[in-house]
Amino acid sequence: MISNRVKSLSAYKTEVRPASVRLSSNEFPYDFPEDIKAKILEEVNKIPLNKYPDPEAKELKEVIADFFGVKGENVILGNGSDELIYYISMAIGELYLPVYIPIPTFPMYEISAKVLGRTIVSVPLQKDFDIDLNGSLEKIREEKPVLGYFAYPNNPTGNLFSREKIEKIRDEGVFCVIDEAYYHYSGKTFLEDALNREDTVLLRTLSKIGMASLRVGVLIGKEEIVRELSKVRLPFNITYPSQIIAKVILTEGRNFLEEKIKEIIKEREKVYKEMKRIEGVEVFPSSANFLLFRTPFSAQKVYEKLLRRDVLVRDVSYLPGLNRCLRVSVGKPHENDRFLEALDESIKELKESKTTRF
Ligand code: PMP
Repeated sequence: MISNRVKSLSAYKTEVRPASVRLSSNEFPYDFPEDIKAKILEEVNKIPLNKYPDPEAKELKEVIADFFGVKGENVILGNGSDELIYYISMAIGELYLPVYIPIPTFPMYEISAKVLGRTIVSVPLQKDFDIDLNGSLEKIREEKPVLGYFAYPNNPTGNLFSREKIEKIRDEGVFCVIDEAYYHYSGKTFLEDALNREDTVLLRTLSKIGMASLRVGVLIGKEEIVRELSKVRLPFNITYPSQIIAKVILTEGRNFLEEKIKEIIKEREKVYKEMKRIEGVEVFPSSANFLLFRTPFSAQKVYEKLLRRDVLVRDVSYLPGLNRCLRVSVGKPHENDRFLEALDESIKELKESKTTRF
């Protein structure tokens, strides 16, 4: 009795293989310091485990709104931005109207839309990973999608799309979701648009700034839009522990976060430069906390060679346009050094073994 809609989907893949250097999920590489952990424990200890949490997560919402420089009325919290992506795909435009997605990008946009039976208008990115505007406009005018997802910066390519291209697509009547999951590493935003327009919302998340375990995603939009979208939100979607822990971290841990984010950006630039020095590796510039790279060898082979050296990255070569590509997250300095060394050795080994050459 499973619908054809669901049968035709492939489940979202995550990396579960063990490795001591895990650079596969764009996680924040640092856990929080002992004093913040102690405060968290103290607060968690007070939670009545038999009670439901605040269904609106009001206190956390205020803290998050303050953290992002907006008001509580502009915010919806989700169990990760993944959940918010589902809400948007449910609520924006009639379900028989298509969803525009530049590809390759974060797979949840397509999965959420397809689960709901929506058709996808997907347009491959240009060679430089920016949006193909002419190709997009042509398809948009033909198929009339009403909703579009833009990861800004894009995952897994790491670049920021041209703002003007997104605006031109929006001018065609496409409601724009600007997914700023990696905002802290790019500093670029559509916040003003999201606060002032009825055809644009932002997504942010706590996952990429040290709180992936808590599953807290953030939608920011104009009050009127937020009020409507809130109708599809499940009650109690933010667990009691998540509400409490995120509140402690966003009040007591801001300096720590700021300092580490700066360090990660510095490390990203270091890793980028070092990767460029490895012969045969083509690494792409990134505004996020990860780097996309291509080698002359099969991505599966590079992945296995790295894993044998205890370094886990993500093979993204199955995505359209990303033949022989892998993605590596920026970790702690010593993890990045381990990765660089392992990559250098792996590429040398693959070059030597002629039989494995492409
Ligand atoms: N958007 C993008 C672009 C992402 O890369 C990710 C996670 N990798 C998400 C959303 C999902 O984030 P969350 O953990 O908040 O569900």
